[in-house]
Amino acid sequence: MKQINVAIDGTSSSGKSTMARALAAYSGLTYIDSGAMYRAVTLYCLRHNLVSDDGVVNEARLKKHIGDIRISFRKNEKGDQETYLNDENVEREIRTLRVSNFVSPVAAIPFVRHAMVAQQQEMGRLKGVVMDGRDIGTTVFPDAEIKVFVTCSAQVRAQRRFLELQSKGDTDVTFEDVLRNVEMRDHIDSTRKESPLRKADDAIELDTSLLSLEQQNQWIFQLYDNYPA
Ligand code: C5P
Repeated sequence: MKQINVAIDGTSSSGKSTMARALAAYSGLTYIDSGAMYRAVTLYCLRHNLVSDDGVVNEARLKKHIGDIRISFRKNEKGDQETYLNDENVEREIRTLRVSNFVSPVAAIPFVRHAMVAQQQEMGRLKGVVMDGRDIGTTVFPDAEIKVFVTCSAQVRAQRRFLELQSKGDTDVTFEDVLRNVEMRDHIDSTRKESPLRKADDAIELDTSLLSLEQQNQWIFQLYDNYPA
């Protein structure tokens, strides 16, 4: 395994986490899903009534609670990484459309970002990490050895996410609900003041709209193989 960090950023459901997981399995790097951390904070907010139905977060109350929110990752028996919120497995709950609908306003709050970025930087301090998110190449690991920025059309992204939710039994959700969510998150994530979603100047861009899983994985494996050991 190469002692490097790999940063994979991009829009929601662009294929970045699939690529990051595949690269981790291929290379032995440790995969970290930074979006899962913002999703877990959002779930905490929803459970503690810290966010209103229209997405306004009670920042003063959340600030008091932020030190009580512990997020960790553990592997299940199949070897897949799962997210824990204060020692409870919340992997399934954080992927619901309800959490997706509130996560971007929560993730836009500067003190939430500072807390998460500090934890993410600690996880990559000794290198050996592949992390996906929105600000990994720009803010979390500006010195990452490999930086990728993944794009994909909103229609294709919504279709992928819709099929994924259906396969998990979330059958009340329509394609239009998912498309609206994808577009809303793109907008909030790329226009927020604190570390908005943007391509790092030295990131390599990949559009996955017309690529198969196999093609996108081969692309990232080659990039990794070409990096000097
Ligand atoms: O990657 P995923 O779609 O699960 O991320 C959920 C949300 O978390 C994003 O829409 C974004 O609002 C936020 N996020 C972020 N910075 C990251 C990763 C995710 O703001 N590094």
